[in-house]
Amino acid sequence: MVKKKILFIGLLLCSVALFAQRTDVEGMSYFDEQRRPQFRENIVIPDVNGYKVLKCDFHTHTVFSDGLVWPTIRLQEAWSEGLDAFALTEHIEYTPHKDDVKVNHNRAHEIIEEDAKKNNIILVKGSEVTRNTPPGHFNAIYIQDASGFIESRDASYDKAAVMKAAEQGAFIFWNHPGWQPGIKGSYEWIDFVEELYANQALHGIEVINGFGFHKKALDWCVDKNLTVMGTSDIHNLIRRDYDTDRGYVHRSMTLVMAKERTPEAIREALNAGRTVAWASKYLAGKEEHVRALFEACIELKPSHYTEGKGDGSKTNFYEITNNSDLYFELILSEGSGTSRILLYPQSSQLISATSNQSSLSYDVVSTYVRSDQHLNITFNLN
Ligand code: ZN
Repeated sequence: MVKKKILFIGLLLCSVALFAQRTDVEGMSYFDEQRRPQFRENIVIPDVNGYKVLKCDFHTHTVFSDGLVWPTIRLQEAWSEGLDAFALTEHIEYTPHKDDVKVNHNRAHEIIEEDAKKNNIILVKGSEVTRNTPPGHFNAIYIQDASGFIESRDASYDKAAVMKAAEQGAFIFWNHPGWQPGIKGSYEWIDFVEELYANQALHGIEVINGFGFHKKALDWCVDKNLTVMGTSDIHNLIRRDYDTDRGYVHRSMTLVMAKERTPEAIREALNAGRTVAWASKYLAGKEEHVRALFEACIELKPSHYTEGKGDGSKTNFYEITNNSDLYFELILSEGSGTSRILLYPQSSQLISATSNQSSLSYDVVSTYVRSDQHLNITFNLN
């Protein structure tokens, strides 16, 4: 009987203890509404002539050179911003965090390689060959191994430093020409660059780097058939440098028109020069690509007409639609119709033309096809 009593008291105590524990667990709650939802932004751009328009940023930094974030953060940012592909391009010759972060030019890429696959982000291996200006900096992407690159900044190694990347079959582009104003040769087509170009060791130029528009670089790309690049060159958090809380704000990037969403197809498109640089509301690229992009995004359909008061005049109306997340601003250059059109992302509006007009031409002033020239388009109204 005593034994039973003890057993009973024991069970009672146990259940009290269990109850207390359960209360503890059940008493715990989370302020989940304060968590940031993990969603990926969807940047909508229709296919262009059967090519997918991939959103790419091939110039970024982490603590493995002079960036301020760990590689994983770069991957998370790329995912949430809706990028398709990016590269970590650490400076070879400039590693200011070396006392705290072991110098290893391949390591940043390695850290996120697996996670990039899991998140369906194309991670391209890259490095930034960082020579004094001039000649300046060169990004090498699609490299195999950055460990054998030249760390000395001695000018006598300038050419060898870039050629290390060329030997690996890299795609090489000249970064932000003119970024240090006032230095002779920093914003010129210097002999050094000509030599790389002649040796097929220069394939593109950054026309857009972060918030900077290197206009001369656009002319060089057009005249010398080099690939137009746009990059963020981000060192800090994207959200610190770009006001992405405003929904339409995005980092500067390259739109790559690729046959498919693979690293190989991106490389093919880069080699073929099928790119447009995108920053803020602006697009910069070779005319054929900016035109193809515009035509893929913009649609014009007849809507209705109105008649003038007894004078026989007629005004035709057309619905113009922007099927993309890009922004276009048009100023009438020829014809009689709506003088200025602002085409916000994924929106439609009506424009008008007097009935005798067979076409209207516009300068798309939010685009650049040369340093001093916008894309000019003609709407056929018949
Ligand atoms: Zn850089």
